[in-house]
Amino acid sequence: MSEAHERYDVTIIGGGPAGMYAAFYAGMRDMKVKLIEGKDCLGGFLHQYREKMIWDVGGLPPMRCEQLIEWLSLQAQTFQPSLVFNRRVDGLERLGDGTLRLRTDNGDTHDTQTVIVAVGRGITEMTKLDIEGAERYELTNLHYTVQDLARFRGKRVLISGGGNSAVDWANELAEVAGELIVVHRRDQFHAMEGSIARMRKVADVRTPYQLHKLHGSGEAIHVVSVVHAESGAEERIAVDEVVVSHGYAKDYGDLLHWGMDIGHKGIRVSQQTETNLPGIFAAGDCADYDNKVSLIAGAFTDAVLAVNRAMRYINADAPGMAYVSSHNEKFRQLNRQLTQQHEDAPSRL
Ligand SMILES: Cc1cc2nc3c(=O)[nH]c(=O)nc-3n(C[C@H](O)[C@H](O)[C@H](O)COP(=O)(O)OP(=O)(O)OC[C@H]3O[C@@H](n4cnc5c(N)ncnc54)[C@H](O)[C@@H]3O)c2cc1C
Repeated sequence: MSEAHERYDVTIIGGGPAGMYAAFYAGMRDMKVKLIEGKDCLGGFLHQYREKMIWDVGGLPPMRCEQLIEWLSLQAQTFQPSLVFNRRVDGLERLGDGTLRLRTDNGDTHDTQTVIVAVGRGITEMTKLDIEGAERYELTNLHYTVQDLARFRGKRVLISGGGNSAVDWANELAEVAGELIVVHRRDQFHAMEGSIARMRKVADVRTPYQLHKLHGSGEAIHVVSVVHAESGAEERIAVDEVVVSHGYAKDYGDLLHWGMDIGHKGIRVSQQTETNLPGIFAAGDCADYDNKVSLIAGAFTDAVLAVNRAMRYINADAPGMAYVSSHNEKFRQLNRQLTQQHEDAPSRL
């Protein structure tokens, strides 16, 4: 356990879009930055749909989400923040001199003047099938997220679920799968009307049915039994791949005990991302305020607001925001390098 260590200006909890952009922007403001992420890499919830095309991030051409993860990760590391992976932040203590001491699940402590909570939905785990022996197929043809569309090409794919993600995946997989069956335990789907209508055209939709048993060799599932939610009648469906999209559990863990004002939509913050705890700000999907935009673009804006408030918390005389990047001295040397690279190998500059 490490106790005595250097104090950071800001420690960001969570490495999703909000946390990554906060790390970049705080670096731009010359802050000493640490980012702690519970998983083993940056990207946050974007990893759940890394194969999907993203169109709605301002100024960027449509691209696969995995590309966006890569670019955001690179940008986050522009000013070399200290990155800590595979550590979930649990504890908070306020020391006599105002230092905030965070404690991670392995007992390590991290001292900081301010905290930006950017935990999205918390440490999310996909809701797994409660069917005996299901876990053994996770290595082969039982999927809780779709990582690689190519693997489903020409195959007989069964999707179980009725929410946005299930419907989206059905439409996406319809482009490559040989045959697509969607089962859902209710007759109604919770997704955009247009997406549901499209899914009904491209997939064999069976409702109200629930996954009941997986039949396989032990290595792969070959047949799935589904039961009718009302009559109990059982059907067997031959499959090559099974995708389960039953949502995920939202888990803020011990952050719930810090004394933050947390409602059913997230951590209540002011329009300036301030929580009710001094020095602690919240950004991205976990932050709840009026007219909140729960998109990647909204996460970026929250990150800027949170960093600027954190800066002011440390030094009340600090400017309200950073100098824009086009006129910011911090980029002078980097711009020279980029211009040189362009001269050596012309690109889009
Ligand atoms: C199916 C789906 C599709 C979407 N498509 C789009 C789209 O096309 N365009 C768009 O703009 N938005 C889209 N969104 C919304 C977008 O994904 C979110 O707005 C965005 O991910 C929010 O980023 P965030 O940084 O706030 O949280 P997250 O991305 O959820 O990241 C939070 C991070 O915090 C970490 N964490 C949590 N608790 C702790 C802890 N205690 N200690 C350490 N680390 C912790 C988590 O592991 C995670 O990495 C979509 C959302 C969904 C569900």
